[in-house]
Amino acid sequence: MSLSLSADRPDPPDAAVDGVWLECIACGDAFPPFEAVRYTCDACDGLLEVRYADHPSLADFAAQDREDGQPPRGVWRYADALPFDAGVSIDEGDTPLYAVPTIEEEVGVADLRVKHEGMNPTGSFKDRGMTVGVKVAERLGVDRLACASTGNTSAALACYGARADTEVLVLLPAGKVAAGKVAQASLHGARILEVDGNFDACLDIVSDLADRGEAYLLNSLNPFRLEGQKTIGLEMLEQFRDQTGDFPDRIVLPVGNAGNTAALYKAFRELVAAGSLATEDVPALTGVQAEGAAPMVEAVENGWDEVRRWDEVETRATAIRIGNPVNAPKALPGIRETGGTAVAVSDEEITDAQRALARDGVGVEPASAASVAGLRKLRESGEITADEQVACLTTGHLLKDPDAAAAAGVAPEPVPADTEGVLAHLGDE
Ligand SMILES: *Cc1c(COP(=O)(O)O)cnc(C)c1O
Ligand SMILES: [Zn+2]
Repeated sequence: MSLSLSADRPDPPDAAVDGVWLECIACGDAFPPFEAVRYTCDACDGLLEVRYADHPSLADFAAQDREDGQPPRGVWRYADALPFDAGVSIDEGDTPLYAVPTIEEEVGVADLRVKHEGMNPTGSFKDRGMTVGVKVAERLGVDRLACASTGNTSAALACYGARADTEVLVLLPAGKVAAGKVAQASLHGARILEVDGNFDACLDIVSDLADRGEAYLLNSLNPFRLEGQKTIGLEMLEQFRDQTGDFPDRIVLPVGNAGNTAALYKAFRELVAAGSLATEDVPALTGVQAEGAAPMVEAVENGWDEVRRWDEVETRATAIRIGNPVNAPKALPGIRETGGTAVAVSDEEITDAQRALARDGVGVEPASAASVAGLRKLRESGEITADEQVACLTTGHLLKDPDAAAAAGVAPEPVPADTEGVLAHLGDE
C-alpha cells in the first residue's frame, strides 16, 4: 500500500530531479517532475503524487525563522517541503487559527479552533495551490491555463494567471456559482465559459481540452496544486500546538473534490517520515459533505471501496456541489488510515453553522460552515467525544457568496430619512 502512514523513506527513482519526482499512487511508476505536461500516470491513468527524497521536520521550518530577521511566512515558509523555492506569489497562506468560544462551549469538546482559509488573497484556500501550480505552468512554458470550477478555483486561477501574465480559461456551471467568485474571475480578466451542466460536466470538458493540448489544467487533479494545499496542514499543526500545547486529535473539513483531504493526509505522512509526528498523533481526518452531494460519505458507509459518481447533485453550499470527487483514491485512504470518518449534513445545518461561526466573529461561505455542521452532528452522535481537541477548516470567505449570507442573516429595516423617524422606528420595537 503506497499511501500508508509508514515512515519508510524510498530511494529516489531514476526519474527524480534534485530529489523530486512524480509517482503513480496506483502502480508506483515514477516520472520526472517538470519534463512534460502530465496529470495522470502514463501506464495506468492513476493519480500522480509529488514525491521527495527528503522530508524537512517542523523544527527545520522553525529554525529558518531564527536565522534571518525576516522569517518566511505563508506557503513559502514551507519551501523545503515543496518542489521549488518560490512560486507565482501574492503572499498566500499564513491564515489565522481562531478560538471560537461560543461554539466550543456549545459543542462540548476540550479545544476547538477554526482555521479561516477565507483570509487568503482571493478569499479561499485555492490560492495555496495556485502559487505552486501556476509556477509549474511557467516552467513548462504553457501559454493557456484552464480549470473547471464551482467558483473559487476560477477566482484564484484568474488572479494568479493575471500575475503570471498568462491567458486563463474557466468553465463554470451556469447559474450555480456564487456572485463574488464570478466577479473575481471577471475582473482579473479570465475568459469565463458558462456551461449548461454541473461542475462534473465542466471538469470532463476541461480535462478533454487539456488532453488535446489546448490548455494546462489547474484543477486539483494536478498534483502540484495539492503540494501548495498541503501547507494548510503544516500551518494548522504548528498553530494548534502554539495555542494549545498539542496537535489536534481531529481535523474536520468540507469535502468537494477531496483535494484538501488528500493534501492534509500527505502533509501528515511527510511529517511522520520527518520524525515530527508520531503515527498515533496523526489527526483523524473527518470529511463533511452536503446531503445532496455526498458520494464520499456513501463510500465510507458502504465499506470504503467504491466511490459512485452522483449525476444529480444539489446544495446551497455550491463550492462542494460535486458528484464525482476526483481525488477520492488519495483521500479515502487518508480518512481510513487516520481513524477518521465522513458525514453528510443538510443545507439547514450548514446555514445554522454559518450563523454560529458569524456569532463568534468568523464570516464564511456556506461550504466552509459544513465543517462545523459536521462537528456538531458527530458530537451529538457521540462519534466525536468531549475530550477531543478539534480543528475545523473553513475554506472560503463570507463575501464570496453575499446572497447566501444575506439570506442567512438579519433583514435590513426601512426607516425614514430623519432622526425622529429613526427613533420612532426603534421605539416601536
Ligand atoms: C474548493 C472548495 C472546497 C472543496 O475542497 P476540495 O479540496 O475539493 O474537497 C470547499 N470549500 C470551498 C469554499 C472551496 O472553494
Ligand atoms: Zn500508474
